[in-house]
Amino acid sequence: MRETDKYSISVMALGGTIAMVEGKGGEGSGVVPTLTGEALVAAVPGLDAIAHIHARSFRQLPSAQLGYDDLDELATAIGQLNNDGCRGVVVTQGTDTIEETAFVLDRLLGLEMPVVVTGAMRNPTEAGADGPANLLAAVRVALSEAARGMGCVVVFNDEIHAARFVRKTHTSRPDTFQSPACGRIGWVTEGRVRVVVQVPPVPAIRGPVTRNDARVALVKIALGDRGEQVRALHDAGFSGLVVEATGGGHVPCEVAEALEAAARNIPVVLASRTGSGEVLEHTYGFPGSETDLLRRGLIRAGWLDGLKAKALLTLLLRRGPRTPAQVAQALAAWA
Ligand code: GLU
Repeated sequence: MRETDKYSISVMALGGTIAMVEGKGGEGSGVVPTLTGEALVAAVPGLDAIAHIHARSFRQLPSAQLGYDDLDELATAIGQLNNDGCRGVVVTQGTDTIEETAFVLDRLLGLEMPVVVTGAMRNPTEAGADGPANLLAAVRVALSEAARGMGCVVVFNDEIHAARFVRKTHTSRPDTFQSPACGRIGWVTEGRVRVVVQVPPVPAIRGPVTRNDARVALVKIALGDRGEQVRALHDAGFSGLVVEATGGGHVPCEVAEALEAAARNIPVVLASRTGSGEVLEHTYGFPGSETDLLRRGLIRAGWLDGLKAKALLTLLLRRGPRTPAQVAQALAAWA
């Protein structure tokens, strides 16, 4: 390939373990985000042979410190890169929140251009650091024809996962990213990119942010709960609530009453704490069952897990007040 034939790929670095080395406190003080986007790219042998890489240090944060304002700004910057004719974008960041950030980008962008999120589980000072291999695989996916129109994907450990399915499933292993609902959608082998599962497009969420103070709470229901957390969250003024119920969407009776009271004022979305499968719609009829909760005004999350349902509801509520009916309509694509 001639130099002028190479495509342009933008790497947007947000921080995370992939960019972490020992901080100023010296040995034993722990690693902190330090390396720039340029440094990450420079650490990958052969990267400049396959693409023109433009690296930008967009944020320098552990991923738990990213927020929705950061992601709205990132989505705008990625949209601009798309308008400028960029072939693909790779976002590097901490793995802790990738399952949320990748889904948020997927929902905000809706581009033909591939947007690939990656990171590392082992920092650059550790034996077997996985950052360079993940970045190389991510760039290959961003370049590939196969990834075009697939929405935002997470590339990690030579696997390709759709943003809508992917979850972080382990605290430290490099194979932490899994898609329990349906598995990976592809992989990278010897530099070849394979996408073997097509992801149906879902229209992106459009419109300016008008309520950046919109807050959504996520509560997981456990054995013996009586609804105090739900009442406290409602009283605290959250604009929406996602409940991770047991099994197919079931809660104790007192929790059902608290959820019904909350659902009179704010959208309350019913997800499952199991981590895979759909929230049921019409199987069980006992008090606190899915049919009871839906009758009480809760909105089904379908097969979205609690984190993704929370991200989606947050994106909707940041773009203006939404009635429960409008939220239900927006969630219908996943239900
Ligand atoms: N294991 C995480 C990472 O991969 C820790 C920090 C973070 O998420 O930023 O980056």
